[in-house]
Amino acid sequence: MEVETNKNITIGGTTVKPGQHKLVQIGIDRLPTGTMIDIPVYVFNSKKPGPTILIQAGLHGDEINGIEIVRRLLAEKQLNIIKGAVIAVPILNIFGFIHFSRDVPDGKDVNRSFPGTKSGSMASRIAYHYTSEILPHVDMGIDLHTGGGQRHNYPQIRFTEEDENSARLAEIFNAPISFPSSLIKGSFRNAAYRMNKPMIVYEAGESMRFDDYSILEGTKGILNVLEHFEMLPPSDNEKFNGQVSVRLQNRKWLRAPTAGMFIPKITNGSEIKKGQIIGIVSDTFGRRTKNIKAPFDGVVFCINHQAVINQGEALFHVGMRN
Ligand SMILES: [Zn+2]
Repeated sequence: MEVETNKNITIGGTTVKPGQHKLVQIGIDRLPTGTMIDIPVYVFNSKKPGPTILIQAGLHGDEINGIEIVRRLLAEKQLNIIKGAVIAVPILNIFGFIHFSRDVPDGKDVNRSFPGTKSGSMASRIAYHYTSEILPHVDMGIDLHTGGGQRHNYPQIRFTEEDENSARLAEIFNAPISFPSSLIKGSFRNAAYRMNKPMIVYEAGESMRFDDYSILEGTKGILNVLEHFEMLPPSDNEKFNGQVSVRLQNRKWLRAPTAGMFIPKITNGSEIKKGQIIGIVSDTFGRRTKNIKAPFDGVVFCINHQAVINQGEALFHVGMRN
């Protein structure tokens, strides 16, 4: 009798057979100095059958919490005993990473360039290689991000409402906060949706700064998913259980009414009451102060850590419980 096993996974011309773990490289292009730039892809292909899950970070090169989550998974060797297959991409946007930047050197956002074209801009080429080399192999995926700029996201999962498997994946991940988020043209999640690959986006912490709680919750969520699909043995660690994700419905950005110094009065993840003063914007010399009030009972799930702000800048992202 034939024993069921996984399929071969071929990426960048390298084949990873069932029972093999390999680092493969997707060649993108050279730096002006001639150094070749590759996207490193860690492929764990088990002999034992199961789904293929993509875990990726660094689509925005300065969003390092996700990169650290994947680094820890690789360092702790949890993926070495996997059933099914995991494709782990620690840094998708290598160009952004080495420049401490969200984007590629011409200023384009890879996460607005999907599915990409072979001869397009650099961001579009990276997206193209990725869409053609990686996405066809995966059954589902987890895309790791942080807030942009100095905006700090409380650990949250965003899922695609049109895709019930994405919503289900969000439930399994069980981040402190979750909500449906509309598909943005050119985004990785949109490209995956069109290829019928359920995807969730984990957003936690802020760019260029480690946030241990965000890293821990992200790692925990990934292990929740791998355990749910029986790709890893169940964990008996108490910290992995007991948390119930807060599902948000209405969300609203609260913006600076005027320029000045922004001083939040609450910590991220706090419950808020309608009318509560959750921050102030003061002119730089302490003469005038404007209060930022909660518009409804709910939760704060993003705070801008930029202290000097201009009129209209996003200060808080708040949401109502479902
Ligand atoms: Zn991002």
